[in-house]
Amino acid sequence: MEHDRPLPDEVGQEPVLSLLGMDQQAVRALLQDLGQPTYHARQILAWVHRRGVLDVEAMTDLSRALRAVLARHLAQPLPIVLRQQVSACGTRKYLLGLQGGGAVECVFIPQISRGTLCISSQLGCPVACPFCATGAQGVRRQLTAQEIMAQIFLTRAALGADAVSHVVFMGMGEPLLNLKAVLPVLRLLTDQAAYGLSKRRVTISTSGVVPAMDQLASEADVALAVSLHAPDDALRDVLVPMNRHYPLEMLLAACRRYLAGKDHKSHITFEYCLLAGVNDSPAQAKAVARLLSGIRAKINLIPFNPFPGAPFERPSDAAIDAFGSVLHGRGLRVTTRRKRGDEIAAACGQLVGTVPARARRDKQSHAASAV
Ligand code: SAH
Ligand code: SF4
Repeated sequence: MEHDRPLPDEVGQEPVLSLLGMDQQAVRALLQDLGQPTYHARQILAWVHRRGVLDVEAMTDLSRALRAVLARHLAQPLPIVLRQQVSACGTRKYLLGLQGGGAVECVFIPQISRGTLCISSQLGCPVACPFCATGAQGVRRQLTAQEIMAQIFLTRAALGADAVSHVVFMGMGEPLLNLKAVLPVLRLLTDQAAYGLSKRRVTISTSGVVPAMDQLASEADVALAVSLHAPDDALRDVLVPMNRHYPLEMLLAACRRYLAGKDHKSHITFEYCLLAGVNDSPAQAKAVARLLSGIRAKINLIPFNPFPGAPFERPSDAAIDAFGSVLHGRGLRVTTRRKRGDEIAAACGQLVGTVPARARRDKQSHAASAV
């Protein structure tokens, strides 16, 4: 795992100033630097995030002079939609080409009364969980705030302003290894002047980066999902290599701290990817229940979604049900994730984008490290 070493933010290019990734405070600071009144920040945020307009020349309630100043200082390239796939159930997967090379995927999942957008935070992922296609790609770099916001901007441009009611950081990458970009995005998503989503409609999923969980708790109030996947350190060290840095005891203590600052209705969702013969026995289910006792938890069981070369199998439906009923019988709230979009490889853990070849892991050594 390479998370001790900072990842580059951009590859071989000057960072560009785009309104897309700037939270309200950043837009105010820009206006101040340009000698302009900061109250225009709310108008600008409304244009970008409510009306989907990035071209400052089209922001007609700003004076011509202000538009001209802004236009001189902004360069706002958007990723290019390289491919769009739609599954039979309406799930859409977008492949977005980034400046400087590489591409990330995001997935829109329509449901009866909501639309969830699953977004990526890194190009690849350094955590390298052996059951995850993104991890098998290695990592190239951090996404910038504007590249993360672009996933939402482009989806809304394609599907309509009201299409996205929920945002989950469950695409490519470990969001808590990229807080520098993720925090402004969270502020934009929950700022009434920008997207104005309620904090319960924005979920960060993490493999358990403990210090960043504490930072998140103090700087943003959003829903948290923790990728558990194993009831003991020996197995979790292999399945979620982040565990070697922050073992279960530290992780669960961080979960308790996270909930301590929240209202009594909030909970943490623990994700558990079920791998046949590896972590799916009734005894392991009992151990999970013991581990989570005393924590306001929901468990989301995700039967393994296969990808080419993966050294794991999905358990039988009977094994999945048995695992869930042990947890349920011990008073835990359990949901099992329905397969969505797996025929277009858009389900959890199947996102690969395109990470340039030199960043890829050697598949052989990767498979050998799996259980
Ligand atoms: N990096 C973050 C968020 C992205 S992954 C994290 O790991 O939490 C979103 C969820 O999909 C995680 O719980 C992850 O463990 C799970 N996942 C990854 N690969 C999977 C696969 N092949 N099948 C099922 N779930 C998978
Ligand atoms: Fe990274 Fe999450 Fe995949 Fe693990 S499961 S490799 S942390 S994206």
